[in-house]
Amino acid sequence: MFFVAYVNKNRCVGCKTCERYCPTGAIKVIRGKAIVNWMICIGCGLCVRSCPQQAIRLVPRYMLTPFPWYFPRRTR
Ligand code: SF4
Ligand code: SF4
Repeated sequence: MFFVAYVNKNRCVGCKTCERYCPTGAIKVIRGKAIVNWMICIGCGLCVRSCPQQAIRLVPRYMLTPFPWYFPRRTR
C-alpha cells in the first residue's frame, strides 16, 4: 500500500490500543513503545484513529526509503 504507519515515540505511552486494533498485527509494543513492521503494515489507518495520544501518523512509503543520492558511489 502507498501509506505506512509512523509512530512518534515521544508521544507513545505504550498503552497497546493500536496493537489491539491493527488487523494485520503489524504494530507491536516493545519496551513500552509501539513499533511498526513496515513489511506487514497495509496503511489502513486504524491504529492512527485508535491511538489516544495521537502518536501515529500515516506517511507515504517512499519517505522511509533513502534516496540513492544520499549514498554517492565511491570513485575508487
Ligand atoms: S495506541 Fe498510541 S500511545 Fe498506545 S501504544 Fe499505540 S502508539 Fe503508543
Ligand atoms: S496502518 Fe493499519 S496495518 Fe498499519 S500498523 Fe496501523 S492498523 Fe496496522
